[in-house]
Amino acid sequence: MRILMLGAPGAGKGTIAQKLVEKYGIPQISTGDLLRAAVTAGTEMGKKAKAIMDAGKLVPDELVIAIARERLAQPDCAKGFILDGFPRTIAQADAMKTFARIDHVVNLEVPDEIIIERLEARRTCKKCRAIYNLKNVPPRVPGKCDTCGGDLYQRDDDKREAIETRLKTYRQQTQPLVDYYRRAGNLHTLNGDAGIDSLLRLVTAIIEPKQRK
Ligand code: AMP
Repeated sequence: MRILMLGAPGAGKGTIAQKLVEKYGIPQISTGDLLRAAVTAGTEMGKKAKAIMDAGKLVPDELVIAIARERLAQPDCAKGFILDGFPRTIAQADAMKTFARIDHVVNLEVPDEIIIERLEARRTCKKCRAIYNLKNVPPRVPGKCDTCGGDLYQRDDDKREAIETRLKTYRQQTQPLVDYYRRAGNLHTLNGDAGIDSLLRLVTAIIEPKQRK
């Protein structure tokens, strides 16, 4: 079960990916999380990536391709994975063909006004990466993760200035992947504003027929 979540920042890729992790026990591979871990660890790669990420731009293809290739080669990916935030350019998608095959591409479409609202209200757990939304999915205790008790924080790139650049970057560099995967024949476009439970049902219906073969 190799799934690729496609969609603008804030479309719900990470939220649905986390639900699929719980349901199917396969890992979520988020290049954004891997890069943020490198930033926190203060590695050379993290130092290079931080300013680019905070500005809402894309880190260079070679760097992200290397990170994704290495992560997908880990044994926990052997039975499948959910890609969240990779690939984000045609060059990344072309490179990925040399080291990973994808069964289903799930493309979440959400209007820009909703994306902006969602990203500004998004809070992320520092410890387990769980995603909250102060309006729709608030934590039970303010500032604390329901699952692990970790501190919630607002990502630097979830602030207004960076959000607009991220949306522009998405349109210019990532949206062409929608046609790329449509041509490949495994694209499923869903209304990302349908609510988590109904989206999860739709995604499950997409994934499971192939699983039963
Ligand atoms: P995300 O957590 O997926 O929203 O990613 C956060 C930031 O990490 C993005 O805005 C980019 O700066 C960087 N990033 C994550 N994945 C990629 C990728 N596949 N290609 C280039 N930059 C990426």
